[in-house]
Amino acid sequence: MLHLRDMGRIYEKAYLDGKILPLKDATVSVASSAVLYGLSVYTVFPVCKGEGGLLGFRLAEHAKRLTNSARVIGIDASISEEELRAAAKEVLDANAIDEDAFVRVTLHVSELLPGVRTRGLETTLSIFVYEAACILPKEGARLKTSVWRRIPDYAIPSRAKVNGAYVNSALAKQDALDSGYDDCIFLDVAGHVCELSAANIFLVRDGVLYTPGRASDILEGISRATVLELARDLGIEAVERTIDLTELYIADEAFACGTSAFLTPVLEIDKRKVGNGEAGPLTTKLRALYADVQHGRAPEYTKFLTAF
Ligand code: PMP
Repeated sequence: MLHLRDMGRIYEKAYLDGKILPLKDATVSVASSAVLYGLSVYTVFPVCKGEGGLLGFRLAEHAKRLTNSARVIGIDASISEEELRAAAKEVLDANAIDEDAFVRVTLHVSELLPGVRTRGLETTLSIFVYEAACILPKEGARLKTSVWRRIPDYAIPSRAKVNGAYVNSALAKQDALDSGYDDCIFLDVAGHVCELSAANIFLVRDGVLYTPGRASDILEGISRATVLELARDLGIEAVERTIDLTELYIADEAFACGTSAFLTPVLEIDKRKVGNGEAGPLTTKLRALYADVQHGRAPEYTKFLTAF
């Protein structure tokens, strides 16, 4: 087990194109497009320790989003739910995982020096597993509007989870950290709210849940889709639409959601308290249900889970 600076622990066995290897040997070349141009697509899904063993969350959606990311970028690679399950199982078994963890799955363009293009090139599938540490403070996050705007769909599409595009997230997260905040709020080029550096955003006004729509330059988060479904099942009105920054300032509640952000209350934005500055009732309710769903404690949502 290797210890990382901020992200907890990372497991020592990784998967690379059908082989289980020590993590340090699971590499792609420095001359590959993956390294030279950030030309890889990825996803991260959680596995949670439930009563009957390890449970993977929404594998079908993760496989589909990874395949769609490759399709958008023009990388000739795909992965089915079954292929994802089989490969993930190999690496989970090899590491004897017995706790909640994150599984990172990447399709790399591993061809050497093909120039800046995407089609007809060799690809490599890698998987590794690391500790399920939250990227935001559990008690709640303080956010700052980023000086960096979200890359628009017509430049690098946010709905494609492409590694190179994460320079945009890294710039915005670092700007927030440098200013003493936990994370950023990205705005689009027109000034509307998009998301955090690696999580989607929801707000509550007058009992209604709002989140930016899928055409708002966001990653189509699998946690976001889950929260929308859970809320609607609870009879809470949940609306996807364009959101102004100042709506966040006057929201009753706000929260971030994502695989590695879980569902975390947002307590402050640009020095304005959200609501009374504490986690609101709807946030608290959805957060508990989301954790129950992932750990197999909500029988009506076991459809989202795959046993490993
Ligand atoms: N937005 C961005 C930019 C992200 O990187 C992530 C994390 N994958 C999310 C949103 C949340 O997506 P998901 O719920 O699928 O983890």
